[in-house]
Amino acid sequence: MTDAAWDYVIVGAGSAGCALANRLSADGRHAVLLLEAGPPDHYPWIHIPIGYAKTMFHPVYNWKFKTEPEAQMNGREVYWPAGRTLGGSSSINGLIYIRGHRADYDHWAELGNAGWSYADVLPFFRKLEHNVRGASEWHGVDGPLWVSDIRAKHPLIEAVIAAAEEVGIARNPDFNGATQDGAGYYQLTTKQGFRCSTATAYLRPARGRRNLTITTDAQATRVAFDGRRARGVVYRQAGSERTAVARREVILAAGALKSPHLLLLSGVGPPAHLQAFGIPVVHALPGVGENLQDHLQLRVIFRCTRPITTNDTLKSWWRKMAMGARYVATRTGPMAIGINQGGMFARTDPALSRPDVQFHLATLSSDMAGSPVHTFSGFTLSVCQLNPESRGRIGPKSADPLAAPSIHPNYLSTPRDRATAVAGIRLARRLAATRALSPYVAGEYRPGPEAVTDDDLLEFAKNKGATIFHPAGTCKMGPASDPLAVVDPALRVHGVEALRVVDCSVMPTLVSGNTNAPVIMIAEKAADMIRRDSRSR
Ligand SMILES: Cc1cc2nc3c(=O)[nH]c(=O)nc-3n(C[C@H](O)[C@H](O)[C@H](O)COP(=O)(O)OP(=O)(O)OC[C@H]3O[C@@H](n4cnc5c(N)ncnc54)[C@H](O)[C@@H]3O)c2cc1C
Repeated sequence: MTDAAWDYVIVGAGSAGCALANRLSADGRHAVLLLEAGPPDHYPWIHIPIGYAKTMFHPVYNWKFKTEPEAQMNGREVYWPAGRTLGGSSSINGLIYIRGHRADYDHWAELGNAGWSYADVLPFFRKLEHNVRGASEWHGVDGPLWVSDIRAKHPLIEAVIAAAEEVGIARNPDFNGATQDGAGYYQLTTKQGFRCSTATAYLRPARGRRNLTITTDAQATRVAFDGRRARGVVYRQAGSERTAVARREVILAAGALKSPHLLLLSGVGPPAHLQAFGIPVVHALPGVGENLQDHLQLRVIFRCTRPITTNDTLKSWWRKMAMGARYVATRTGPMAIGINQGGMFARTDPALSRPDVQFHLATLSSDMAGSPVHTFSGFTLSVCQLNPESRGRIGPKSADPLAAPSIHPNYLSTPRDRATAVAGIRLARRLAATRALSPYVAGEYRPGPEAVTDDDLLEFAKNKGATIFHPAGTCKMGPASDPLAVVDPALRVHGVEALRVVDCSVMPTLVSGNTNAPVIMIAEKAADMIRRDSRSR
């Protein structure tokens, strides 16, 4: 069965897809189809920030990927959640609003990607944002994505910030402003106490447009080609196979795992991988699925001397009731915050030119992010290396388009990455030993006092390290001279026509921070380029 034709067919209604759907349908000139594998975002816990824990392992709203077991993680499969609903991962993420370091984007430009330096992308960051702090050189107020402050100060976060100051790391009120270094509170993508996903920010206002069709529960299985021109998208919905024809372009926005997976299933990728699964080669492109990068988080957990942690709130019925009542009445308190309230960007070696680790500070503790909190009073200093050297890859596991891809993150595979992991854990311990924070520390729960040597700490990283959910780089942006480049600086797939990739996968190198805002910036910039192209044709 063949569906009608649209000008643009977008695959994936995630952080990028929703922003694209809004911007490309805004002037009414083009018909846009947005295809999403998951259902609509009606589950109430999506919209309440603390619902993060409810969606983390949800069988419907989460793809629940797992990495392949890897030797350097002691043979463990690492759980990789990803959003599967309108808003994609922005509907289940930790709401932290970070852009990365200006040098990340300058580096992208140095790699041959004209138009992607920090000076080039800053206007798009300002365009996407409605920052409650008001407009400034760094921030915008006219964008759809609400960025809010955490209004209540928490004594533990205050103590960590003071601890950072004690070890020479300054307080920073705005990690997205003049400088990234320092410790402080995160801003969150919330609007008046509710999650501001891209479905809320970008899709809701556009839903009534006659030229925008949003189709949910529709999983794309491949791009259909006429020769080397993308003709449309084949997808499965309610047990039937359909084809959505794209008069102008197909845009893959299915995320850093599924966009390269779809290219591979469509015959665009390294020929050896395709042939191994009997997939006919449409275009040989060696970089598809390669260059996988992620932030590995190491969660250093402390028992707290005082019953002031979110663990304490959640284990007491009356405190839980009070928390709920506070949220209903004022939209504040723990329910209005995801998990991490505070953050820190620091250098494990003062000689470095910029921060090499990021901390996420949580007033709770649990075995895994999003799993039930511990019964004791606990808090977490989670540390991740910002610019890992390790590169992994994703590939097909079978020719079945509905099967998950194979994921090989290759964490901790270089000496520098291993050394930074150890140095990050040691920095967390230094903070815990300060005058400001030590009164709150009853003991180190993880890695625990028995972990003393560098080897012990590395062993902890291998046994307990987890993703902080930032896979990127698998459809690398770069010039044709780059053997691993999959898309050009206009995000068009090299060697074929009418096909772009617009999502986290195009990052040539992972940004130094959380990835939601950078992906939305990429979509804003892509929409600008696509609309410009459409005017010249
Ligand atoms: C649990 C978690 C916590 C996070 N916390 C933060 C945070 O606090 N701050 C931050 O900045 N970043 C955070 N991130 C990362 C950030 O949210 C993602 O990097 C970003 O949302 C990725 O955007 P994307 O558009 O590339 O992909 P996604 O937003 O994942 O969108 C991809 C969409 O495509 C759909 N799709 C996939 N395959 C198909 C197919 N075949 N057919 C149709 N549709 C398909 C998916 O269902 C999904 O809706 C977090 C991520 C997770 C998972």
